[in-house]
Amino acid sequence: AAAGVDDSAVIATNDDAASCKRFAVQQGYWKDPYIQHLVRPGERKAPEINRGYYARTQGVGQLLDQFLQLTNCQCQVVSLGAGFETTYWRLKDEGLLPRGYFEVDFPAVTSRKCHYIRSRPPLSKPLTEGGGQLQIEGGTLHCSNYHILSGDLRNTEELNASLTTAGIDKSLPTLFVTECVLVYLTPDQSSKLVRWAADNFPTAMFVNYEQVNMKDKFGQVMVENLKTRHCHLAGVDLCADAESQKQRFLSVGWEGGDLLDMWTVYHSLPQQDVQRIERLEFLDEVELLQQLLQHYCITWAWKDPTGLGLSNLGF
Ligand code: SAM
Repeated sequence: AAAGVDDSAVIATNDDAASCKRFAVQQGYWKDPYIQHLVRPGERKAPEINRGYYARTQGVGQLLDQFLQLTNCQCQVVSLGAGFETTYWRLKDEGLLPRGYFEVDFPAVTSRKCHYIRSRPPLSKPLTEGGGQLQIEGGTLHCSNYHILSGDLRNTEELNASLTTAGIDKSLPTLFVTECVLVYLTPDQSSKLVRWAADNFPTAMFVNYEQVNMKDKFGQVMVENLKTRHCHLAGVDLCADAESQKQRFLSVGWEGGDLLDMWTVYHSLPQQDVQRIERLEFLDEVELLQQLLQHYCITWAWKDPTGLGLSNLGF
């Protein structure tokens, strides 16, 4: 389905996320030699924002890596609303590629990503290294085990069909990732998506990063002051609190789930690296960082009928 007029603001949030990530990478928060080929350098970001993005990428990345290690990479990853994520290249560089890696986003986003991959060798070369054939058509890419698909997450029938056509194997352990994505769907739409994943994939995990506790007026103003423009679209339900975050999964077929706010995640990351990044830029208002990070969380849920040990993953 083509994106409607209202979707253009949502689509633009990807540029914001990508440029924040590029800036943080440039400042040395983490390594990503690929993001610079997907987005132009943006304006300077506040240290709080950079640390927030650090916690987000490292936090989601840790759960992903744990899943890959637990399954010995005999699994699949599906990133929904993937935008300009560069995770596939990182996993390739680290020898951690799953059997299949699938990304879905609006055509307006995937066609740009595909165009950059096609025209920039630092992006395309790693994909074709092992003899893989790069097949790009509009907003769709297939290259050995990497698939970029265009679609609308609100249409699970279509999503199911395009993943099936791309060769997804529903019997493999499958990790779904939504990084700052579900907030753009209505509660009914995200519920349908999360239920579809549970209904179709017997062994699966879902990792979701997004805002919580937006009932807190003070916090909301704080977040707005920090110019995190994403997740602030009119009409979106920002009142999901922590418990309902978890219930959203448990009520539609997921066996178990857990969540942590990003302030806690930040303190659960390898502290040597946290100390390293804290030396990169001076931050005079630690309380501001705490306020910001406490308004975001990572929720993860699992279905593990064969006892792989998915319930042991976490921080
Ligand atoms: N996950 C990426 C990241 O963290 O860098 C991008 C996050 S960006 C804030 C949100 C992404 O979700 C955008 O790329 C947007 O196009 C995508 N998105 C939101 N609603 C969608 C929908 N209904 N169908 C497909 N993609 C959607």
